[in-house]
Amino acid sequence: MSGTILVVGASMAGLRVAERIRGLGHSGPMTVIGDEPCMPYNRPPLSKEALRGEEYDERLPFPIRPALNDVQWRLSTAAVSADLDERRVVTSAGDELSYDGMVIATGLRPRRLDLPGPQAGRHVVRSMADAQALRDALRNAPSVAVVGASFIGCEVAAVAVTLGCQVTVVAPEREPMERVLGTELGAQVRRRHHEAGVTFRMQEVPVAFEGDGAVEAVLLSSGERVPAAVVVEAVGSMPNAEWLGGNGLDLSDGVLCDARMRVEGAECVVAAGDVARFPHRWSTGRAVRVEHWNTVGDIARVAGDSLRHLVTDDLGGHPADEGEAATTATVVPSFWSDQYDLRIYGLGDPAAGIGDVRLLSDADVAPVYGYHVDGQLSGVVGLGGLRSVLPHRESLLGSAFSNDLADHHWPGSK
Ligand SMILES: Cc1cc2nc3c(=O)[nH]c(=O)nc-3n(C[C@H](O)[C@H](O)[C@H](O)COP(=O)(O)OP(=O)(O)OC[C@H]3O[C@@H](n4cnc5c(N)ncnc54)[C@H](O)[C@@H]3O)c2cc1C
Repeated sequence: MSGTILVVGASMAGLRVAERIRGLGHSGPMTVIGDEPCMPYNRPPLSKEALRGEEYDERLPFPIRPALNDVQWRLSTAAVSADLDERRVVTSAGDELSYDGMVIATGLRPRRLDLPGPQAGRHVVRSMADAQALRDALRNAPSVAVVGASFIGCEVAAVAVTLGCQVTVVAPEREPMERVLGTELGAQVRRRHHEAGVTFRMQEVPVAFEGDGAVEAVLLSSGERVPAAVVVEAVGSMPNAEWLGGNGLDLSDGVLCDARMRVEGAECVVAAGDVARFPHRWSTGRAVRVEHWNTVGDIARVAGDSLRHLVTDDLGGHPADEGEAATTATVVPSFWSDQYDLRIYGLGDPAAGIGDVRLLSDADVAPVYGYHVDGQLSGVVGLGGLRSVLPHRESLLGSAFSNDLADHHWPGSK
């Protein structure tokens, strides 16, 4: 395979697709552009180990395989616009980069709270720089308010209370992680945090930040003032897809792809990672984004295979038989979250089945819960890591809830 490959986004998804393309025999020019100043690194520790101490920082960068030695890395460089008909991308440095095949891997950025009050003292956690700034702030913070009680909010709360901060979590749901795990398991998570000293203000939202130049408190909808020298906003993320505007793509929630990760409405372009919206076996006919580490690797393989096919075909070569191409039908969404000694591990789509949760194992030994839709298993969650859920993987794969993704493409899916 030859042709010039441009990867936009120098992080996990971009790296994994680049590795796959080289692994499939591509030896042509490859450029990776990324707006961060550093080589690709691993994000999950940013809300866990790396927040506790700087000694973890050197373990964050991903190793770069020898097959990528001749790749041109253009760091601190953003893609600002693209002309997909002309196959050109304009960068923040003012360059125009041409490609035969392009990978979109620009991920997400944190959503921010649009509330009155001082900015200083407000943090998010997405990048290494974010985590380092928060780590420094936590060292001297008597009180921390975490707004949002899903994965990142709960993980940051666990680290902050362990570091000795007085931590309050504020969120509109009844229980932490309720949208992903349901109320029963969410209550268990809350109890574990409570034992560690975290205070919860659930079914509450912040309405303002207070302080003289820097945050000192969060004002809640109930009128209560929560003291907070540091505020962590963990209220979700937004896809970095604006730079693709004007090309007629569906960018309504990330970049719409088919089940081969080919971008709908573009030639020779694939997407991967958190920014990509695609159909998979558990998505019940819709295209969805999946913001989980394991899935990034799985779909990068599919995207790499597709790009090889597209570019080889486009350059007049002989692509492999379509029937052999990888699709997202084999992807089993999975996630984990570490909070204290809890390693929460999920498979499939537990969130779809939070209305019918049943204990599948002995509650005293690493409990595992099954999530059901119309009596069919949609997902499993265990509190004892991957090992606790693996025995239930076959039942999940055999469940009628997951679609048989025989058709690789749902037109207009959403
Ligand atoms: C703090 C944190 C903790 C997590 N913990 C877990 C966990 O415990 N378990 C789990 O399953 N998953 C976890 N995840 C999710 C997992 O890390 C992500 O799914 C994964 O990092 C996504 O990789 P990505 O390459 O798609 O996106 P990103 O890692 O966001 O990379 C996108 C890159 O593109 C860059 N970029 C954006 N716009 C442009 C542009 N216009 N031009 C050039 N470059 C651009 C960005 O700066 C970034 O470097 C966590 C994520 C975070 C942030």
